[in-house]
Amino acid sequence: AKSEGRGTYRLFEPHFERERLERRRTEVELAAALDRGELNLVFQPQVDVESERIVGFEALVRWDHPTRGRILPGAFIPVAEGSRLINRLDAYVLRSACEQAKELPGVTISVNMSPLNLRHAGMVDNIIATLRQTDFDPRRLEIEITESAILDASAEGQDALARLRGLGVRLALDDFGTGHASLVHVRRFPITKIKIDKSFILNLGVQRDAASIVEYVVRLGRSLGITLTAEGVETREQLRFLRAFGAHQAQGYLFSPPLPLQAAAALLKRQAEA
Ligand code: C2E
Ligand code: CA
Ligand code: CA
Ligand code: CA
Repeated sequence: AKSEGRGTYRLFEPHFERERLERRRTEVELAAALDRGELNLVFQPQVDVESERIVGFEALVRWDHPTRGRILPGAFIPVAEGSRLINRLDAYVLRSACEQAKELPGVTISVNMSPLNLRHAGMVDNIIATLRQTDFDPRRLEIEITESAILDASAEGQDALARLRGLGVRLALDDFGTGHASLVHVRRFPITKIKIDKSFILNLGVQRDAASIVEYVVRLGRSLGITLTAEGVETREQLRFLRAFGAHQAQGYLFSPPLPLQAAAALLKRQAEA
């Protein structure tokens, strides 16, 4: 009778209500996790397509939960974006990345920035303060923003990007091809890199359209003087396509998964000695 009762109760509890409570719980826990330092970074190499040498690392956040174990960003970034927590999270990641990148000399460090942060008035000032406090060269920092952010960038957002670029910070357009941004939009912003979304790379050699799209984006991007990076490169065949099209950089499991700082530093050191 008891289990029957519980089942009945569920029927009356709308799905969205449970989801809302779950999100709320994650939100509260995430705020505490930020305070307790449970968020950690891993670093994934970005390589030059021709030489396959590491030219940068993308910092990706992980939540090491005391009981639930390691949680991937897909499970908590959307929750953070639903509240003001995303500002704190991205600021925390930026600061940690700038501090830890001292172990990764000579290469670019890329940090993801939620589109919501673009509208946050204090964002640029916060980045400037962080760069200064961590004594990090702005020219070594790359901020990755998704193309949706570009599309709805307000005047303030555009201004923020221009200010960052003025400091020497590089700006990468993430997940290119998944939204509605075109290269026309790209030209209106001080973008220095386009990251072609992994869904297109996955289909290289599988779907003829994917190859055409990638080739087209690489050509146009190159003609605009923008660095072209492919994400999610998993096979040699995909890399061959990218070489043929003239893409500059690649990132993906073919080269390395995201690594803990010490492993990333070791990889870089081995390369310097080779
Ligand atoms: P993203 O920026 O597109 O990051 C690339 C994702 O692809 C990462 O997932 C990475 O681990 C994964 N990946 C790398 N190589 C391969 C590959 O060869 N094949 C496949 N299938 N996947 C690959 P991850 O680490 O789970 O991050 C997911 C997303 O969460 C990121 O997508 C980014 O949008 C967001 N994110 C991560 N860290 C942060 C952060 O600090 N702040 C913000 N705002 N967002 C973040
Ligand atoms: Ca990214
Ligand atoms: Ca991406
Ligand atoms: Ca993505």
